[in-house]
Amino acid sequence: MTEAPRWPLPAMAFGGDWNPDQWPRDVWRHDLELMRRIGVNLVSLPVFAWPQLEPRDGAYSTAWLAEILDALAEAGIGVALATATATPPAWLVRAHPEMLPVRADGVRLGFGSRQSYCPSSEVFRAKVAALTTMMATEFGGHPALRLWHVSNEYGDHVSRCWCDACAAGFRRWLLRRHGSLAGINEAWGTKVWGQVYTDVDQIDPPRVTPGPDNPARLLDFERFSSDNVLDLFRLELDILAELTPGVPRTTNFMGIFRDLDYWRFAAAEDVVSNDAYPDPADGAGHTDIALSYGLMRSLKDRPWLLIESAPSAVSWREVNVPKTPGQLRADALQAVAHGSDGTMFFQWRAARTGPERFHSALLGHRGEASRSFAEAAELGADLAALAPVVGSRVRSSVAIVVDWDTIWALRPDASLPAARSWHDEARRYHAALHSLGLAVDSVDAPGTDLSRYAVIVAPTLYVTTDAQAAALASYVRGGGTLVVGPFSGVVDDRERVHPGGPPGPLRDLLGVEVDEHWPLVDAEAQIVQFASGARTTPHDWAEWIEVADDVDILAHYDGRPLHDRPAITRRSFGDGVAYYISAGLGL
Ligand SMILES: [Zn+2]
Repeated sequence: MTEAPRWPLPAMAFGGDWNPDQWPRDVWRHDLELMRRIGVNLVSLPVFAWPQLEPRDGAYSTAWLAEILDALAEAGIGVALATATATPPAWLVRAHPEMLPVRADGVRLGFGSRQSYCPSSEVFRAKVAALTTMMATEFGGHPALRLWHVSNEYGDHVSRCWCDACAAGFRRWLLRRHGSLAGINEAWGTKVWGQVYTDVDQIDPPRVTPGPDNPARLLDFERFSSDNVLDLFRLELDILAELTPGVPRTTNFMGIFRDLDYWRFAAAEDVVSNDAYPDPADGAGHTDIALSYGLMRSLKDRPWLLIESAPSAVSWREVNVPKTPGQLRADALQAVAHGSDGTMFFQWRAARTGPERFHSALLGHRGEASRSFAEAAELGADLAALAPVVGSRVRSSVAIVVDWDTIWALRPDASLPAARSWHDEARRYHAALHSLGLAVDSVDAPGTDLSRYAVIVAPTLYVTTDAQAAALASYVRGGGTLVVGPFSGVVDDRERVHPGGPPGPLRDLLGVEVDEHWPLVDAEAQIVQFASGARTTPHDWAEWIEVADDVDILAHYDGRPLHDRPAITRRSFGDGVAYYISAGLGL
């Protein structure tokens, strides 16, 4: 296997999204002078310029972009060159309205924002392939090119579509996964509630239904939708690999984004890049963002790039609070400390028009006089001084299991004992580890080499396969310490409750059987009492568990409804130890 192209900059990346096509030439020429002054070495463009690049069907206009790229090369500034496929132009959408996405309730979304496409649309895919081919052919050898920036924030607005083309794609995907119509019926347990299908064409994506939907259908639709967007990503990746084999390729992720399985996306690309917008008004924002940074450095076990962040306020929250003086620097260096080889921003110059006109920029509406520009100049010097650590790695001894099956299956609308959220549980466990000064990696089990971690935490592993359980058991047997949170080992990858009940294939490892899940209506009445005397209150969840004879009980429930029942357990297993925490604990 040939080595994938590596991140090519010898210095920390510093810069951001730049939209010179939205400004007169004298403005963007001045921009270049300012960029050089503060040490910008990488810009992303032209992310949303499809209409300027292809004003009419098949008629490309590239001279303007060539002029800008030449000027960047002359200034010594590199480019993360967007394939510009993130939003189709109005003429294309008007000619093919069937390419607009459809919601679960049947409403077809209109043009006028961005991402106005169905990921399955053959017309859209053909035009994407043509534009990507043109960009690679025209600019693949340009001296300013450092990195391909494929599309933009896949799935941010449209990651799922319920149109007829997606329905057909869903059926094909189901037949590949389950082998036959009988296999689909078996996997989904369709005898319950009279859902048996006698022809594959009877199967639809989960559109709005009269009552609770089939959980296995919902989970398969999540998987299909993620794979469908991944196919679209691969369409561009393959063209770029063929035409420009030495140029690394990325697309900008969005933290631990619910809708897309980033383990699979990262495996397809060369460089992991990420957008991060912690809320300055959220006191825990820096803690939560560290959880996603752990995923970014773990996805390929290599340095990654913070390719978008806000210099100050964003424009899409209900209340958009600016960053206080120094926060820009702190946020940028936090990303570097977590393994990012640079920090980039959205965007260079503040827009005067459009939905993001109040989004902060390195050059705010006051231009060079903006506070953010002065802070950016200081950061440029900081990042330049950090060049010696480019390519270095963050080594962590603790990791959290990040598994998209569980993320998807824990839906607020699911037919569970109570609403559960992987993100909520993960934040709680991560916050506890973060408060100890630990940088926490992410692992995919099976898939990641677990043996290098002293401690692995599964905050909640609702979907647990035999292969996952075997990987975790092997890790503990070899000397690892595993902490498993509540509502784990509940169902298999078809949403079937494991035989004998939870924790299913984790039963032998943990030495625990869950008799009943016990959501807490009056959490204040239920205490978790440790043998040490420490006491804490579960936030919303408890379980009636039975334990094996060789299991240590570290804490009991005190008060109603589970008085004196075991709450937290520990079992030695091989050379390691496995903990089970049946209560929902943490902030
Ligand atoms: Zn569709």
